[in-house]
Amino acid sequence: MSIIVLRLGHRFARDKRLSTHVALTSRAFGADKIVFDVQDSDVKDSIEAVCESWGGGFQVEYIKNWKTFVKGFSGLKIHLTMYGLNLNGVLPEIRKLKGDKLIIIGGQKVPSEVYGMVDYNVAVGGQPHSEVAALAVFLDRLQDGVELDKDFKGRNRIIPQARGKKVVSDE
Ligand code: SAM
Repeated sequence: MSIIVLRLGHRFARDKRLSTHVALTSRAFGADKIVFDVQDSDVKDSIEAVCESWGGGFQVEYIKNWKTFVKGFSGLKIHLTMYGLNLNGVLPEIRKLKGDKLIIIGGQKVPSEVYGMVDYNVAVGGQPHSEVAALAVFLDRLQDGVELDKDFKGRNRIIPQARGKKVVSDE
């Protein structure tokens, strides 16, 4: 199963840090790729720098037309929105469906067509919060937490410590 995150509506001047966090969260919580509908090379460069140091095969891509991309995606399409069906109710059904998954998250306001183009509109609780939080919770619940044990095989690796920090680096 491959997991792709589509981040809609990056605002060039305001969202660099947030979009970078969305991408890093996607990577750390087991997604294979993030796709943006707005090209921002600062965001791409930051994510690629993390991948270069910390490993994993995570990809960053830009698309010109998100509608064409969503229509052409052949796996399961899931839009995270506070207006959807609550995660606790739909997760058992979603977890039964094997194959590739596209997870769509918005910025400020998602175009209304998105709601009708997906297989599921899923709410991570019925309160407004953040695309980073929604994505982290959804990805973790989808994979039952196994993504947290993934070996990214990076040049830098953390040796977990009860106290303090230990990082080993390959030359
Ligand atoms: N009113 C918006 C909505 O449709 O959810 C909130 C916008 S929020 C700043 C940006 C993104 O965070 C949303 O597009 C959605 O993907 C995600 N999000 C926020 N709260 C959520 C929730 N309770 N459940 C699922 N996704 C949520």
